[in-house]
Amino acid sequence: MTKGSINVSVENIFPLIKKFLYSDHEIFLRELISNATDATLKLKHLTSIGEAKVEYGNPKIEVKVDKDGKKLHIIDQGLGMSADEVEKYINQVAFSGAEEFLDKYKDAEKDAGIIGHFGLGFYSAFMVADKVEIITKSFKDEPAAHWTCDGSPEFTLVEADKEDRGTEIILHIAEDSTEFLEDARIRELLNKYNKFMPIPIKFGTKEVNDPDFTPKTTTDAEGKETTEPHKQITVDDIINNPNPAWTKQPTDLKDEDYGSFYRELYPMQFEEPLFNIHLNVDYPFNLTGILYFPKMTNDLNIQKDKIQLYQNQVFVTDNVEGIVPEFLTMLRGVIDSPDIPLNVSRSYLQADGNVKKISSYITRKVADKLKSLFNNNREDFEKKWDDIKIVIEYGMLSEEKFFEKADAFALYPTVDGKYFTFEELTNAIKAKQTDKDDKMVILYASNKDEQHSYIQAAKDKDYEVLLLDSPIVSHLMQKLETSKENISFARVDADHVDNLIKKDDTTISKLSDEEKTKLDELLKEVVPSEKFMVQLEAMDSSASPFMITQPEFMRRMKEMQQTGGGGMFGMGNMPEMYNLIVNTNHDLVNEILNTKTRKKQERLINQSLDLARLSQGLLKGEELTNFIKRSYDMIK
Ligand code: ADP
Ligand code: MG
Repeated sequence: MTKGSINVSVENIFPLIKKFLYSDHEIFLRELISNATDATLKLKHLTSIGEAKVEYGNPKIEVKVDKDGKKLHIIDQGLGMSADEVEKYINQVAFSGAEEFLDKYKDAEKDAGIIGHFGLGFYSAFMVADKVEIITKSFKDEPAAHWTCDGSPEFTLVEADKEDRGTEIILHIAEDSTEFLEDARIRELLNKYNKFMPIPIKFGTKEVNDPDFTPKTTTDAEGKETTEPHKQITVDDIINNPNPAWTKQPTDLKDEDYGSFYRELYPMQFEEPLFNIHLNVDYPFNLTGILYFPKMTNDLNIQKDKIQLYQNQVFVTDNVEGIVPEFLTMLRGVIDSPDIPLNVSRSYLQADGNVKKISSYITRKVADKLKSLFNNNREDFEKKWDDIKIVIEYGMLSEEKFFEKADAFALYPTVDGKYFTFEELTNAIKAKQTDKDDKMVILYASNKDEQHSYIQAAKDKDYEVLLLDSPIVSHLMQKLETSKENISFARVDADHVDNLIKKDDTTISKLSDEEKTKLDELLKEVVPSEKFMVQLEAMDSSASPFMITQPEFMRRMKEMQQTGGGGMFGMGNMPEMYNLIVNTNHDLVNEILNTKTRKKQERLINQSLDLARLSQGLLKGEELTNFIKRSYDMIK
């Protein structure tokens, strides 16, 4: 028997472990199963290179709850440890055997996918146990060892009579951690952390139909068929899928495989993803994974934190902030990389060179995939555009590299259901929508119904009108205006269409200057000045007499501020301000001017103003009721 003190510099490390090592106590199980997996993969490696002359077989890991005995067992059939190795690897806290193994067998990390690194994982057992035993037998011809430690730095190490190769860890669960004696809780943890680990993990047994049995169907005298019940057999309940889709080669996977893996990841998600992106790099860093584009809504916030991060098939976290570019956190799927330093703070993570490379690799991969989807099947891409545009627009705003690449596939739909790339759009409108200052004006609407009359006015001029309705589109326009040459965006209701795209040929006013002054004064007396800026314009006599517009700049700044940043400070709180454009060439305006009684003039102005408000959707409540009443009176 050996007795001794665990070799740590701090006299009593256990209270420290318990309190500070990991904030999440539940990860002890992940650590112990990772060690069991490492032990098995190490043996696999040693047998494959001929250094271990034993039968590798079909090893599994078993987790057993002994509720009455208040114990949790983790049993593996890996390479085991001799007493000397227990001394070396277990008693010297923070001496990682995984690190040493990897130094010695450099290829093993890549080939075998060893998980351990820090040499503290094992001790996380003391977060939930007040006594831990290790019973282990090495694959080498050496006696088995039995190590016991009750949480103080003292341990005992004796010989054991274990015959079969491998290691059994026994946790005597502490009073404050009895939740880990519940089957349901353990199953939940296995599902969370170990669902895709590479060695089969058994947790209890289950009843299934015997595959070697075919139930017989018999027909009785009356011709009624009866099928005998299927024969049940008891099998190991294997909780994990040791070969998840992302570990396979893309060429070995069909569309259905990606679909079924999606359902494996998100069993509660009933909607099919739109498409997937298989990630696969091994230089200059290691990374595999599959990302899915789900159907997006316009709400940016509810869709985050769905991507799962793994390290060698061990679940680490579903917060991939800093690793995946922000705009792609709306996607779903998995990323697996041994090269992401996880025991560091988020700010360090963002400064890490590897992590930066990973993030830009993912951005590039996503852009390339979108481009190939667009090139290979444009029609399908256009159909999906509405469901994915939010990610793409967000990406264009936040990542310069993505902005450049997106030029090839970002779409600008029109109110008529056409989809242009930016280049196609400029080619289509260049001739007609360039104003007298050589600026190309891109007209858009945010709502086909609400802005119907303005859209119509633009269409009458043979202009194209885009339909841009995602919440961040005002930011995107701002960005496009600064990065492309000589373009500007204007919403169709920002001004009269002739003013939106100013051409040289100005219409001559039918009114004299004197008449204009008179009209202006009259309107300013009747129209509430805190809401409307009156503007006289000589337009086509067929254009509307009264028209309400909202200047592009102010409205866009307000919108940008509502969706976060970018706008001017304080704009969001400014009252809505509208222009009232009065067409001096319209007959009605002439009539207003020449009507003798002031009362009738006011009535005509108010009614016209209300009609203009109505077409902008601005007439509501009591004002609308009064308008309708007044209109009935008029037609009586
Ligand atoms: P790490 O896994 O980072 O090396 P741990 O504290 O988790 O650190 O484990 C320390 C060492 O103990 C391992 O590297 C390994 O050599 C040994 N070990 C732990 N669990 C087992 C096991 N189930 N079978 C064989 N060796 C083990
Ligand atoms: Mg470990």
